Amino acid sequence: MAICTAFTCNHCGFQIESWSDGYTYLRGTDGTRHYYLHPGEHEVWNERFEAEHQRRASTEEELLAFVEANMGCEHYYVCRRCGRQTRRDPERDSMGCTGCRRRELHPIDELEGVTCPKCGKGTFHGEFTGAIS
Ligand SMILES: [Zn+2]
Ligand SMILES: [Zn+2]
Repeated sequence: MAICTAFTCNHCGFQIESWSDGYTYLRGTDGTRHYYLHPGEHEVWNERFEAEHQRRASTEEELLAFVEANMGCEHYYVCRRCGRQTRRDPERDSMGCTGCRRRELHPIDELEGVTCPKCGKGTFHGEFTGAIS
């Protein structure tokens, strides 16, 4: 289940929404990321397996081994300097901000008490706003 939390700056009202789930993907041999979501993951997995092997996976184990070897997960980050929001896979991606190039990306679900990048005065306070299964 994905939990949604809204973090709001107590000074300027700048708001960032955070979903507890990451963004899962399968990486192609050319480096392209093919995102998949529950419950449609099997379709994407089979499609990717076929694209890379020119045949379908013969067993579920073979498919899962392929998924295991190529999967990754992007998480949401916010730049503590300029406030730009971005998705990164911490295991594969450079953690520099696309906007200001600083390496001050902060995980978006850990914003509680963090100084607001917009006004530099307030701090974020999280509030539960909903959930989807
Ligand atoms: Zn602020
Ligand atoms: Zn930045």
